[in-house]
Parts: sequence; C-alpha cells; structure tokens
Amino acid sequence: MRNDLTFTIIKPSAFEKNLTGAILETITRNGFKIAAMKMVRMTPEKAGLFYEVHKERPFFNDLVEYMTSGPVIVAALQKENAVNDFRSLIGSTDPADAAYGTIRKMFAESKSANAVHGSDSDENAEREIGLFFSEEEIYLK
Ligand code: ATP
Ligand code: MG
Repeated sequence: MRNDLTFTIIKPSAFEKNLTGAILETITRNGFKIAAMKMVRMTPEKAGLFYEVHKERPFFNDLVEYMTSGPVIVAALQKENAVNDFRSLIGSTDPADAAYGTIRKMFAESKSANAVHGSDSDENAEREIGLFFSEEEIYLK
C-alpha cells in the first residue's frame, strides 16, 4: 500500500475563525502537496460514517454535532511518509498536550474543537480520501 497520502479536515471552529489560510500555509510550508481540496458542509450521516470507529464512545454524538456545525475544508495531502509526518505536524488530540509549533498547539481551542483531523494509518487515509473525492478530483505528483 502507498505511504505518500494522508487526509485532513480543517474543522468547523478553525474555518469559522478564518484560520484556513494560516493552516494551509503551515501544511504546504512543511512539504505537503495538495492533491485534492474542497469546502463541504457534512451531513450527520457522513460525519457518523467518517467517525464510525468512535460510534460507541461517549463523545460520539457531540463529535458529529460539532463536525456538522459549519463548513469544513477537506483535503488529500501528498508527501513521503505522509500519515506519520502529518500526525507529527498536527500534534496531540488535546492542544494542551500538543508540542509547541504544532498546528493544534497554534490553532486549536480544545480537545473537541481541535482545528484539524489527520488520518491515523495508510488504510484509513485511503478510505477517508475515498469518502470525499472521486478519481478525477485527485491530482498526484
Ligand atoms: P482526529 O481523528 O480528528 O484526527 P485524533 O486521531 O487525534 O483526532 P481520535 O481519538 O481519533 O483523535 O478522536 C477523534 C476526535 O474525537 C478528536 O479529534 C476529538 O475532536 C474528539 N475526541 C476524542 N476524544 C475525545 C474526548 N475524550 N472528549 C471529547 N472529544 C474527543
Ligand atoms: Mg483519529
């Protein structure tokens, strides 16, 4: 399986605060190429499917409500070792625990409104890109 793709979401709170440009600048400055990108307003069904692995967790309903509370930017990103390098760039789930210089440390409000999503495996990156993009919407180097 290829290891040069990951998937990100600029989450509703970050989009609402007009942090999209600053976050994308950080991402591209760190060597990620944008392979696909668009703005979407997720339905509860889509958000529930996206976070299916968390459906038994106590925070699941709040998570779906948050992710559907406004538009988001979804993007596929290309770089060698994309999943791991992007997880390092975004930092820990809770911005309070995230390292200085990471996207969540710089731009996130809280553990739930944590600015960005990043895929946690190559398999999930492929699944998540497929949930939002068709083949003709993806440009790979
Ligand atoms: P993401 O999948 O969004 O990149 P992550 O992989 O760092 O985040 P996950 O464990 O996959 O973290 O959780 C998915 C999302 O659910 C988190 O980004 C966060 O917004 C929310 N979340 C996770 N744990 C909690 C919690 N204990 N309380 C509230 N929200 C949580
Ligand atoms: Mg996750």
